[in-house]
Amino acid sequence: MGKVAVTTAVVGAAMACAVAALVVRHRMRSSGRCARAAALLKELEERCATPLGKLRQVADAMMVEMHAGLASEGGSKLKMLISYVDKLPTGDETGLFYALDLGGTNFRVLRVQLGGKEHRVVKKEPKEVSIPPHLMVGGSDELFDFIASALAEFVASEGEDFHIPVGRQRELGFTFSFPVRQTSIASGTLIKWTKGFNIEGTVGEDVVAELTRAIERQCLDMRVSALVNDTIGTLAGARYYDNDVIVGVILGTGTNAAYVERAHAIPKWHGLLPKSGEMVINMEWGNFRSSHLPTTDYDQTLDTESLNPGEQIFEKLISGMYLGEILRNVLLRLANEAALFGDSVPPKLETPFILRTPVMSAMHHDNSPDLKVVGTKLKELFGGMITFIPNTSLKTRKVVVQACDIIAKRGARLAAAGIVGILKKIGRDSAAKDGGDTPRTVVAIDGGLYEHYNIFSECLRSTVKEMLGEEASASVVIKLANDGSSIGAALLAASHSQYLDVGES
Ligand code: ADP
Ligand code: MG
Repeated sequence: MGKVAVTTAVVGAAMACAVAALVVRHRMRSSGRCARAAALLKELEERCATPLGKLRQVADAMMVEMHAGLASEGGSKLKMLISYVDKLPTGDETGLFYALDLGGTNFRVLRVQLGGKEHRVVKKEPKEVSIPPHLMVGGSDELFDFIASALAEFVASEGEDFHIPVGRQRELGFTFSFPVRQTSIASGTLIKWTKGFNIEGTVGEDVVAELTRAIERQCLDMRVSALVNDTIGTLAGARYYDNDVIVGVILGTGTNAAYVERAHAIPKWHGLLPKSGEMVINMEWGNFRSSHLPTTDYDQTLDTESLNPGEQIFEKLISGMYLGEILRNVLLRLANEAALFGDSVPPKLETPFILRTPVMSAMHHDNSPDLKVVGTKLKELFGGMITFIPNTSLKTRKVVVQACDIIAKRGARLAAAGIVGILKKIGRDSAAKDGGDTPRTVVAIDGGLYEHYNIFSECLRSTVKEMLGEEASASVVIKLANDGSSIGAALLAASHSQYLDVGES
């Protein structure tokens, strides 16, 4: 063998060895990454586990807190606010009523012509108006004048299908989804602004009085007959069509629940309210917390970095504002510790709230064999001009879907446990004894999360069933009540109308 040939052979052999070593190292590294990813997922799954026993503890804790919140002011993390709604719509309401729904970047106005049990909603007409951002952080008169002038314009555009009897004032139900201390069915003082609103000089003021003054400035003859929030609006809207609705739940950006309580079971109001009859309680359940809630380091991080640390703990496990953000925290750790997206961590993955719940839901629902939607969404989310997530492997996509599954199902199961807690509190969690008739119980749920995240809502329903058992759950109905909240406020204006005492409403 000549010198050249020997050198070539030696170099060739050395290169083959190096390549083999690289392949082995890559395989070892990638199997190490896989093992680390699997371990992190397993840990997540264990920490988020919601076996039946745990859910029962959560439901019991919810019930205990409900009792405590009803017993005394500040007795619980659950505010259990009195809504002053003691007459839910029955279906008998007739006449023209209006609703105004304020609680986000848009507000909605609605008119509805009610025709009693036989004709129900004869006609309704909604209109959505977006609020210019500068008004969300300006003065009170500016905001309320803007709203009232939209209302006046809406009234001016009324068609002939809507009739207001001569000599009668128009009546409005106001859905105001900010924390309010209610002082009567049609008055309440603002506790604080949330959701990006910050209006000077309004905290501690009566929001109905503010709106009424603005309506008068428009020379509009309209009376605010009911002040409610979206949860109570949902309950009322659903009750109008179904007399057995006794719980309303919101599962959207945030979460809350309201239910019908017997007045004698509200100790903090004894002496202040008649002891007979019923009262709708606004639970503000987003603020529920309990040592039984399964939480993780990811939840801790989310809470610490949130605008309201230590508050709304239940909401942070369940609602649409947070599910995507929990997922982002999980993926970030997987990227850091198990190189889920390759050797470097996509910088965008570090941006809080970049991963919204609708995107999580789209990935979670991906049924394609190669999880194409997951791949596309990840690319859209975390890719960029400079940093680019190359095509993710099927393994990576599967890990992402598994993480979605763990986080969404924990939320849905906890929401179900909350609902069962309410049913327990009002004695609707078991079938009648001695073969008697079990009353039908309907839970109305509204909100984009429940409406669009099917895996979440299916899991919620099946968990309620699992917790109640076949027999009891046969008489419990959980139903979507979308767009209940706007019309609900108009219906409450009708059921609390000033004209009720003078004959027909
Ligand atoms: P809000 O709660 O703000 O009054 P919605 O009831 O419409 O409004 O709920 C909107 C929220 O619902 C969004 O913030 C989002 O978290 C959630 N959501 C909307 N669409 C989807 C979807 N396709 N999948 C999962 N969640 C969704
Ligand atoms: Mg809403």
